[in-house]
Amino acid sequence: MERVFNFSAGPSMLPLEVLEKAQKEFVCYSSCGMSVMEMSHRSKMFEDIISRAESSLRDLMKIPSNYKVLFLQGGGSLQFSMIPLNLMNKNKKADYVITGQWAKKAAQEAARYGNVNIVASSEDTTFDRIPQLDPSKFDPEADYFYITLNNTIYGTRYTKLPDTGDVPLVGDMSSSILAEEVDITKFGLLFAGAQKNIGPAGVTIVIVREDLLGNAMEFTPTMLKYDIHAKENSLYNTPPTFGIYFAGLVFDWVKEQGGIAQLQKINEYKAGLIYDFLDESKLFRGTVVKEHRSLMNIPFVLPTEELNARFIKEAEAKGLVNLKGHRTVGGMRASIYNAMPVEGVKALVELMKKFEMENR
Ligand SMILES: *Cc1c(COP(=O)(O)O)cnc(C)c1O
Repeated sequence: MERVFNFSAGPSMLPLEVLEKAQKEFVCYSSCGMSVMEMSHRSKMFEDIISRAESSLRDLMKIPSNYKVLFLQGGGSLQFSMIPLNLMNKNKKADYVITGQWAKKAAQEAARYGNVNIVASSEDTTFDRIPQLDPSKFDPEADYFYITLNNTIYGTRYTKLPDTGDVPLVGDMSSSILAEEVDITKFGLLFAGAQKNIGPAGVTIVIVREDLLGNAMEFTPTMLKYDIHAKENSLYNTPPTFGIYFAGLVFDWVKEQGGIAQLQKINEYKAGLIYDFLDESKLFRGTVVKEHRSLMNIPFVLPTEELNARFIKEAEAKGLVNLKGHRTVGGMRASIYNAMPVEGVKALVELMKKFEMENR
């Protein structure tokens, strides 16, 4: 069977070369007589796998040596709890910017442990933008300041980071990690679930500045303490070994593509193909304000539900799948992560053009 162009928001498309490499090594890794899944996480072989994955990620993202890289479990969503449990430790206060469902869930979880100050929200316009941030609303005593860098559901992203002074900036980059460059030094902590741009679901990457470790709330479960995982190099207990191995292969692939800066250029080109069409179209309409458009997730709508449904069906017949939008936005959403080839995006734009001709 032919592979399709999969526009799913997550889990999402992975590079074919990486899938094939993993397939080749699936039964017997590096002549060791067993699969990565079957080897001890304490073995020399696996230690090499995890330390290589970490050093590749450090190179790719230019992670300074005073930051720890952790490979954890529990998805992006467990970070919504781990962040307040570990970092809301001085004044029990944190600032949150609400730019979508994920930020909202993160803020709700944090509110169970301390005071959450909602600095701004774009909920009243269905999260079609990053709201204007008024620094006079920032709490200088906040233990951290929380943002979602790329809003997967609504298709927005920060193009400029807030200046939070001495308050550590915490960022959810689940749907933009490895897709565009970020200056790690602007952050106290960054995290991402793997299933959008890195590999199979089950691994969560946390990048955290060392000085923020070690002051978790008294009742924090051991498994939820960053410092425990940092001290044990992510081997406190059995980590998601296969996912970490796979992530390492994806990091190698990103290097082969020329690194994050190069991928960002390609991502800008791919997203530009769709946005340019949407800007000219008289039938299709993007749902996000121009200056905050995501490079990864592009929601768009047709004038009626009937047309939306017909477009999704026609796309599916052409091998362009999972284009249905999130229920809160409706219409379509094209998620075009690193692994979506330019041909996939071109095929989508071609179909949109054809659909417009036929339905004017
Ligand atoms: C997908 C996603 C999450 C949730 O990830 P899980 O691994 O399903 O918990 C959180 N934040 C963002 C921005 C996401 O895209």
